[in-house]
Amino acid sequence: METDIEIAQASTMMPIEKIAEKLGIMENKLEHFGKYKAKVITTAEAIKSKEKGKLILVTAINPTPAGEGKTTTSVGLGDALQKIGKKAALALREPSLGPVFGLKGGAAGGGYAQVVPMEDLNLHFTGDIHAIGAANNLVAAMVDNHIYQGNSLRIDPRRVTWRRAIDMNDRQLRSLISGIGAHANGMPREDGFDITVASEIMAVLCLSNSIGEMKQKLRNCIVGYTFDNDPVSIGDLKAEGAVAALLKDALKPNLVQTLEHTPVFIHGGPFANIAHGCNSLLATKTALAHADYVVTEAGFGADLGAEKFLDIKCRMGGLEPNAVVIVTTVRALKMHGGAAKSDLNEENIEALEKGIPNLLKHVENIQTVFGQNAVVAINTFPKDTEQELKLLKDACFKKNILVIQSDVWAKGSEGGIALAEEVVKVCDQPSQLSFAYDLNDTIEEKIEKIVQKVYGGSGTEWTSKARKTADKLTALGYGNLPVCMAKTQYSLSDQATKIGRPKDFEVNIRELSISAGAGFIVVLTGNIMRMPGLPEKPAAEQIDITEEGKITGLF
Ligand code: ADP
Ligand code: MG
Repeated sequence: METDIEIAQASTMMPIEKIAEKLGIMENKLEHFGKYKAKVITTAEAIKSKEKGKLILVTAINPTPAGEGKTTTSVGLGDALQKIGKKAALALREPSLGPVFGLKGGAAGGGYAQVVPMEDLNLHFTGDIHAIGAANNLVAAMVDNHIYQGNSLRIDPRRVTWRRAIDMNDRQLRSLISGIGAHANGMPREDGFDITVASEIMAVLCLSNSIGEMKQKLRNCIVGYTFDNDPVSIGDLKAEGAVAALLKDALKPNLVQTLEHTPVFIHGGPFANIAHGCNSLLATKTALAHADYVVTEAGFGADLGAEKFLDIKCRMGGLEPNAVVIVTTVRALKMHGGAAKSDLNEENIEALEKGIPNLLKHVENIQTVFGQNAVVAINTFPKDTEQELKLLKDACFKKNILVIQSDVWAKGSEGGIALAEEVVKVCDQPSQLSFAYDLNDTIEEKIEKIVQKVYGGSGTEWTSKARKTADKLTALGYGNLPVCMAKTQYSLSDQATKIGRPKDFEVNIRELSISAGAGFIVVLTGNIMRMPGLPEKPAAEQIDITEEGKITGLF
């Protein structure tokens, strides 16, 4: 069997201007990065003035090491929509180097449902994430320089909250002391790095509709507090102009294609466990302005990516999906039912039955908490048995849940036609987006509502530090912002081992931090961290390049 990268490298891409042409985007709106990638010049006005396409959100059950295939299903669905004659496009996130070299590998889909050029997409792409890292680190340098140069703003070095960023899984950088050595080296203080995709700059870029709006958001980002505990912002440092200048090109959505030449906007890449988990507003809106059907993916399970897509991105950006596809696999549900990864190739009806409640909880959430029309897509794997597939479908039928088998990984668009046809039908049915919480709820109420309604927990348990921060943020006037939950992706709870549909659990609210520029409060639960590490056997060990420049071992 061919690997993902072999399939991708064997494909013939179309010149990117031909892809743009499908969407009616003229050549003079493209900035080329070679033959097959381009940035698209878009303006807030152009996006607003156009007729809007239908928006399809792809989300999933809680991930397991068995893989669910959200990107694969998104790409296959986009291709299938194109195949049945619809003007379709995708809006997806850019992969971070962290997971590419870590456990997960690339994030361009798989099998015959992939985005190309796959290597470029997974390795640097058009440089947006590096630009975001540079912008973040310019702020960090200016904070420390301000302190060093006499500190007229009276920034308390112990209360600097702005962290440095790098797009790498590097646990060594999580906590460190910077500025040591000599007087000339700055003020020694406790410091650390987050992965760039978890930075506030990434969130700001993803939630801005224009350069002006981005500058305004940047100005509001809080970098730390004074000796009197008053907030200090990027605006106070007079840094927003230079930071925005560094992001000039990164703010433009990137256009590429699938193996079947469906247009794909790839832009922004916040992780869904430690950040808000969806591609940029500009990419989604540009796609909606030019296509009739736009497929977009929110990261990890519907408890994380979809919740934040709806409660944060849609609420801020005035978007509303027309259909929500929930991806599941027989294999992952068997793991949720207690099966070991090594046993997944054998039929296991009992484990599947025990795991299905995880799927049902996510469907319930999408339908009842968020008021959306849901379709379950079973991403078929080669070893799924007829009995297993029947059991899973019957479980959905019993609850009146639409369920369609998808075979896009093996067959490309051909394997997704049934799903595409169902999704088109669902898009024509009415739905009314509701949110898990109101912006007027207190910070505590918002978190409590997410935990009880979306996660299915009994309540929350707070550290005193988190309580104190909530009080302080409320006093500072940030109580009406949405919350961005940072939580393990593996469980509906905050503990990775609680698989399936856990009940009677409390979620530990460990720490809160304010992203005043992006416009949300980050809530760290359990032991989640904003700088991941590499696993015992990093994917990087398998990646190589030939003398001719061909990359191998990327998956
Ligand atoms: P997600 O977006 O949910 O993280 P991806 O679509 O990136 O998942 O898929 C993860 C991995 O699983 C990829 O390497 C892909 O090739 C593989 N995969 C996805 N669907 C299938 C399938 N139906 N059969 C076999 N492998 C699959
Ligand atoms: Mg994905």
